[in-house]
Amino acid sequence: MTDYELIRSKRRSLELRVLEDGRVQVRAPQRAPLRMVQAFVDSRRQWIRSQQQRQASRPRQRWQDGASFPFRGQPLTMDVSAGRSAVAVSGGYLQIRVADPDSEAAVQQTLEGWLRKQARSLFEDSITRQFSWFASQGYSRPALRVKKMRTRWGSLSAKGYINLNMALLQYPPAALDYVVMHELCHLQHMDHGPGFHALMDARMPDWRQHKQLLDQPFFQP
Ligand SMILES: [Zn+2]
Repeated sequence: MTDYELIRSKRRSLELRVLEDGRVQVRAPQRAPLRMVQAFVDSRRQWIRSQQQRQASRPRQRWQDGASFPFRGQPLTMDVSAGRSAVAVSGGYLQIRVADPDSEAAVQQTLEGWLRKQARSLFEDSITRQFSWFASQGYSRPALRVKKMRTRWGSLSAKGYINLNMALLQYPPAALDYVVMHELCHLQHMDHGPGFHALMDARMPDWRQHKQLLDQPFFQP
């Protein structure tokens, strides 16, 4: 028999969830008989098992002492200790001080706050280094927005924003420069046609190598 947690609520149908840690939750209407809930869970046993296997094999970023975190293409080891919130890179270590070092949520929050600041300054720096030619063509500098995105590295909005994925911080600097250049080239060419690629070739002749750096599967923060 499958273990599961039953959550009754004002709903009309049964719903099954397998959580990240493999636990099973069933949401059920207030009056649904237990027999019916049990039969529902039994009928989905195969599905539950395959979901649990999938969750277990999925790499997950850990936020604890000794965990690895890639930063700018270098694998750093988290060195978590108790203290006033602070983060620093030293040697191959990411030193994280946090009030409650045993709480992964607290470590994650402290590290992500620091990462966001790093992203701001490093992303702005990449834009500054690559924007001068576009400035000479009369384009105005897009304003940076650092975002957590699941499906894209960056985008350029018609309203004058360059949106960059915070996860770019995990990749080598050349990968970040490639994404920034890609988005800046959209100032001139909105699509990915021959004109766009000709401009990429002119501004960043080795962009294809840089783009390949993004193929490494790093954890998303
Ligand atoms: Zn594009």
